[in-house]
Amino acid sequence: MTDGLVPLVAGNWKMNGLRRDLDEIRAIAGASAHLPRPEILICPPATLLMAAAEICAGTAVRLGGQDCHNEPSGMHTGDLSAEMLADAGAAYVILGHSERRAEHGETSEEVRIKAHAALRAGLMPIICVGETRAEREAGEALALVGAQLKASIPPHPGPGLVVAYEPIWAIGTGHTPTPTEVAEMHTFIRSELGIGLGVGGTKVRLLYGGSVRSENVKEWVAIDNVNGVLVGGASLKSADFMQIVKAFQ
Ligand code: PEP
Repeated sequence: MTDGLVPLVAGNWKMNGLRRDLDEIRAIAGASAHLPRPEILICPPATLLMAAAEICAGTAVRLGGQDCHNEPSGMHTGDLSAEMLADAGAAYVILGHSERRAEHGETSEEVRIKAHAALRAGLMPIICVGETRAEREAGEALALVGAQLKASIPPHPGPGLVVAYEPIWAIGTGHTPTPTEVAEMHTFIRSELGIGLGVGGTKVRLLYGGSVRSENVKEWVAIDNVNGVLVGGASLKSADFMQIVKAFQ
């Protein structure tokens, strides 16, 4: 866990959730009322953000978007700006998730521009990086993630930046890297951030993501430079998610 950083447990609901599922957010807000740590974040679909913000007002649960456009407003049908997410109650925004990189062709350069937009709007960007199975097997994981980091992170990201290491082959598959592989990658990311951001690099929270479940969360908690987790499937049910939250207390 380490570093004196307050851990962050973030749930990415992806394209899941109808109004009736707000009960899960209500339950998370209730169950976390007396937990001083970790910081808890839910990134629901944008359709639920405003209602979720009403539920979470006055609680410790924070909200985030799953993507944003780089412009503050304009002729971009179907897109949402960082300002709109902030206006709806978001404090964070996930950027460069591998599903957006794969399905929408997002490049690291675009992610960096979106990160600028997030910072402009007062949102904390969660920048996702991670390799494919083939890249790992070819011994290219560190180089690939290093290149993604260099291209995705703005030069002056401020204190709120979060980086999520999510090996693509671990997302939604039930397969996970070994703790040694995660430790190696997180140490590498911390060192790269130090080179790029100086002392600011020590303040960036590094999340592990990829099939995090209540059954395996203890493995990630124990690793240096793992300052929290980004959770997909297991964040949809409050009971599962709260077990993960409690592991980071
Ligand atoms: C994710 O969506 O970022 C993710 C890690 O998903 P899952 O936990 O379902 O693998």
